[in-house]
Formats: sequence, structure tokens, C-alpha cells
Amino acid sequence: MMMKSRFVFLLLLLSLVLSLPGAENGAGSADPAEALRKLAGQETKAAKPIRYIFYSGVRYVLLFDVADFYGLTSQYTKKGVVLYSSTRRVEMFYEKREGSINGTKTFFLAPVLYLDKRPYITESDFLRVIDPALRTRISRKQTIRTIMIDPGHGGSDPGAKGPVQSEKQINLLIAVKLKRALEKLGFRVIMTRTGDTFPALKDRTDMAKKYKPDLFISIHCNSAANTAVRGIETFLVTPAGACSTADKTPQSTRYTGNAYDQNNYRLAYDVHRSLLKFTGCEDRGVRHARFFVLRNSVCPSILIECGFLSNDSEGRLLASNERQNKIVAGILSGLARYAEAVKPLPNPAEEKKAGTGAAASGTQSSAGGKTQKR
Ligand SMILES: [Zn+2]
Repeated sequence: MMMKSRFVFLLLLLSLVLSLPGAENGAGSADPAEALRKLAGQETKAAKPIRYIFYSGVRYVLLFDVADFYGLTSQYTKKGVVLYSSTRRVEMFYEKREGSINGTKTFFLAPVLYLDKRPYITESDFLRVIDPALRTRISRKQTIRTIMIDPGHGGSDPGAKGPVQSEKQINLLIAVKLKRALEKLGFRVIMTRTGDTFPALKDRTDMAKKYKPDLFISIHCNSAANTAVRGIETFLVTPAGACSTADKTPQSTRYTGNAYDQNNYRLAYDVHRSLLKFTGCEDRGVRHARFFVLRNSVCPSILIECGFLSNDSEGRLLASNERQNKIVAGILSGLARYAEAVKPLPNPAEEKKAGTGAAASGTQSSAGGKTQKR
């Protein structure tokens, strides 16, 4: 551990306990979504105490308080931390970013920081990874009507090479199937390409600026030097100030795509989980990257790596109608889950009743319910 005395001093100096008057007796703002908004806005009020420190210029929150916030129990091992209830489980580690939420592999933005015998996680992991995954409804509402599908590569750029077909072909086949399925359901669908052409990355994001879709979904297939590697990866843009999954250095630039950090995570999480369920593929995790089409997005966006063409058997499956249909079914089911989580409710009273903090599966241990009891 990088325990240094000046950080201990900083900890003492900067450890602030936040509390909101009124939360104790159930009056005032008992809405955890609002508490999060306030916390995100660096205001000095929250619905319940969330203690934080600054470490290397990054804000970390005390894991005990995060667990408490969601009504979860916390448990510590030599390797990391588990937050859990009967229906929810967040697993994080001290030495690596790879962990899981409700059994789905996810790459957190930073490992757990163990300082002064207490575990901390970055505020960004709390607000932009854990929170959007655990919440039943997320605060930024959306009515989804128009979806832009972006089949990666094309034309002169074949993408990854496969045993049967190249990536550009498979991406387009999946995209066209997805388009048809979405249109059948009544969505308006716009494709960044409909044939074997190569729109530049900027052309693709310019199209999004022009047509203003509600969601942007980029379809790709993967490749690795190790031909044994297989499985599905789902990407969202890395929040400002954090490291991408494949990087070790943080980047502070805030891109247009970062306006949707919470929605991006929920979209990636819902679609990734459904894809795994429908295809039975190996879980390679929800990952962060500053890919051009994601960072310059004008709406919540994800990039799906549907499998590895460098793996012979997965490459062959990806070229089959059967696998492509399963991928489409997985994406549709994930979109349905996401749409439910962001659906605007008819009136504010109903919004309050539905609660904002319950688990994805809607259990009794909702943060909303818990806060109201106090
Ligand atoms: Zn690709």
C-alpha cells in the first residue's frame, strides 16, 4: 500500500462528514437520487453521510458509507471487498480494477484504496458505475424513439479477419438484423452505413449530430493475438479524470459523450448482461474506452464487441444466422431493460412512489426505502 504520512494528514484534514438536516426525521429530501446529484455537484449536503477524502487529487468515498447507502452488507477479504444483500452483489479488489456487479464482470475505474485500515473507492466508481447499475430508475429520463446503429469498419477497412467472413461483413449483418427487429417494434432506426462503404469515424458522429438519435449503438467484432480468447465485451466512454480499462494514466478531458456517463453505464450493463444470457458467451466485461464514436456521442452510447474472430469456433459462429439472431435478441432485451430504467413517469407523485433507489431487481433493501425510514 502506498501509505504516506502526508496522506494520513490529508485524510484527517479532508475527511468530511456530510449530513443533510431533515433526513433524520424523514422530512425534506429523502431521495437518494437528489443526494447523488448534490454529491456530484460537490455541494455540502447529502441525504445521508457519505464520507470522502482526496487521494492524489482524486475524490474517494468511504466504502462503508456506500454499502450503507444501498442497504448492503460489506465484507472484507485479503484481496478485496464485497458489498451484498440477498439479491445484489458488488465485488471489488485492491490490486486490480476487474470486479463484478450482480455477477457480471465489470472493470471499475480504479481499484479499492485501502488507507488507514479503511477501504475507499473513487467517487466516479460510486456515481458512474455502481450507482447506475444498482438503481431501479436512473435520474436522467429518456423516451427512446430513434436509435442509431453503427456497423463498424466497411469498404476499404475490413476490420478483423475471421475464418468465414471479415468483421465489416459480420458487423453489417448483425446491424441489419437489429435494424429490422427494432423497426418491427416501432423504433426509428438510422444506420451509419447500409452497404460496404467506409464512412470515417467523424462522418459517423456527424450523422449522429444531424439526426439526434436517442441512443447510439456501435457493432464490432474482436480480435486477439491469443486465439484461445473468446467472449463479449461492451464498452462505454471513460468518465473524465479516470483511466480507460486498457490504460494506466488518467485523462482529464471531458468529452460530449461524458454528459451521459450514468446512462452510458446502465445501457452497457443492461445490454451486456442480456447478450451473455442470450448467447451463452464468455463474459469479458463492461469496459471503459475513449473510442472516437463514444467520446463524441450526442446521446447515451455503447460499442459492442460481439465476439472474437481470431478464435476459430467463435469466428465461425459469428458468421452464422443463428448466433447473429441471438446477439440481436440479446441487444433488444438489454434495450428493453434500459428503456424501463430511464422511462419518464407520468407524474411526479408516481415518480416518488416508484422510488429511485431500489435494486435492479426491485427488492426491499432499496436505498430510497432505507433513507425514508430514518
Ligand atoms: Zn472493429
